[in-house]
Amino acid sequence: MAEFSPVFTARKFKDHAVVAYECACGCTPMAHVYQGSAEAGHEHCCCGRVHFAGLEPMPQMEAYLAQRRIEGLDEGLSYAFGDAEVQAPWGGTLAVAYALPHGAGLAEPEHDHDHHEHAH
Ligand SMILES: [Zn+2]
Ligand SMILES: [Zn+2]
Repeated sequence: MAEFSPVFTARKFKDHAVVAYECACGCTPMAHVYQGSAEAGHEHCCCGRVHFAGLEPMPQMEAYLAQRRIEGLDEGLSYAFGDAEVQAPWGGTLAVAYALPHGAGLAEPEHDHDHHEHAH
């Protein structure tokens, strides 16, 4: 199966930056990143893909996904992680972390519908 690999871009928006990509679902999810902020911006796309951008986005994304799992929101889902870098509008680079969900059947439109009963 072909893995979707997002291409991130950063642009200046008002007093901060927006790190976005064109998602396979047709959306353009945007993470709002403030210069010097320890908190990474993120967006969780309607299709289940997540990206975080800013300072050390990976641990923040992992904490976010761990919390979702606790809340039972990601039942049956596992994620493939990736990271990237984009040019910050104020110079230097911004780190990006992203997670692509598996198991929901969303990323593979051509999957065949084998409705197995899962043993409990
Ligand atoms: Zn979408
Ligand atoms: Zn999407």
